[in-house]
Amino acid sequence: MKIFEEIESEVQSYARSFPRVFNKAQGEFLYDDEGHQYLDFLAGAGTLNYGHNNPVFKEKLLEYIHDDGITHGLDLHTKAKGEFLETFNEKILKPRSLEYVMQFTGPTGTNAVEAALKLARNITGRENVISFTNGFHGVSLGSLATTGNSHHRGAAGVSLNGSSRMPYDGYLGDDIDTTAYLDKVLSDSSSGIDHPAAVIVETVQGEGGINVASFEWLRNLDTVCKKYGVLLIVDDIQAGCGRTGTYFSFEEVGITPDIVTLSKSLGGYGLPFAVVLIRPELDQWKPGEHNGTFRGNNFAFVTAKAAIDHYWSDDKFSNDVKRKGEYISTRLQAIVDKYGEGNFTTRGRGMFQGINCVNGEIAGKISRTAFKLGLMIETSGADDHVVKFLCPLIIRDENLKKGIDIVEAAVKEVCAGEKTIPEEYDYFESDSSDLKAVSNGS
Ligand SMILES: *Cc1c(COP(=O)(O)O)cnc(C)c1O
Repeated sequence: MKIFEEIESEVQSYARSFPRVFNKAQGEFLYDDEGHQYLDFLAGAGTLNYGHNNPVFKEKLLEYIHDDGITHGLDLHTKAKGEFLETFNEKILKPRSLEYVMQFTGPTGTNAVEAALKLARNITGRENVISFTNGFHGVSLGSLATTGNSHHRGAAGVSLNGSSRMPYDGYLGDDIDTTAYLDKVLSDSSSGIDHPAAVIVETVQGEGGINVASFEWLRNLDTVCKKYGVLLIVDDIQAGCGRTGTYFSFEEVGITPDIVTLSKSLGGYGLPFAVVLIRPELDQWKPGEHNGTFRGNNFAFVTAKAAIDHYWSDDKFSNDVKRKGEYISTRLQAIVDKYGEGNFTTRGRGMFQGINCVNGEIAGKISRTAFKLGLMIETSGADDHVVKFLCPLIIRDENLKKGIDIVEAAVKEVCAGEKTIPEEYDYFESDSSDLKAVSNGS
């Protein structure tokens, strides 16, 4: 469709990797306007953990709309909000012995990060926030100051102040615990690093290339924070909501962050929704001090509650994510061993996995080749060198297998030159049945 070239801004990104017009989606599949089916291992960059148009949530949402439930209510108390809060407290917080109050911010992840940073600065009266190499926290200016990526930072147009970067776990090699460096600079009044209000960290860096922090490193980080009275913010926007196998990505680490940000899959249905969880004694906001028209999306309250009721009332779902995560990591390791040119590696936790192809061009080729075979999978990392597996957590086993089979075929073709797609195969002109044969396995 030419209209996108004509009047949609050049700022488009994912649309460039997957240049089709999509008009339907269900579960782990997307469909374009010509009826081609695509297996979705991108899943809204981690927003569709429960798949597209999850039928359980859809029913609740349709019912709510049909009954003229509140759509927009600023931050008014609504029944939908109350029920979401109750469910979140009973089924997520209490079973994990967590005590947080919840702040509803503007609807996207970066809105939650901005609020978290602002709160931490207000509480402590300090400006500096420690963030990490390859971290990603959003692209509005406050969040962007804590984001590593130079492509994003370069677009700011103003200096990005208020944050100091520290090396993430593994940044200096496996043998170096970088929290020792943080400890040292915080203990040294001449280190040049201002005493920070907070540390903001992802337990697994998504946009940064699926870099996994070890539990030990995270515990050490927590210890350093406590030692210097620095607040610990875990940005669980991408790693949370089950992606790593537990609801929060830090649950099994044995730390309790002071502040947590959630968004992406929180709404469950792909609806914009973001929150900040705050340790009760740190909830020092004055009424209306942080504001916004779209604070709390009532449709998302309905679907977020449905997601928790349906998937988080017991640990079945969590165990299933862990089981699939192990399958993914075993398969990826085998692919890397076989075709990985001796330098590919795998990385990840739960269903948050990646293949580090070292070279961005190769990773890009793998992604493009997979797309020809009906699989949508993106790359991430500083050089887009990591093929990033983010399939919906609800994916059926046979489709998970098929998706990884496609990646294997793509890696084989790109790295070993073993053609799996016929030379003359041009997906964009081919009959849709070719593609369906791949993604349906029929
Ligand atoms: C996506 C993401 C954000 C930003 O969320 P937006 O909705 O894009 O503003 C922040 N932090 C992490 C870890 C993310 O993955």
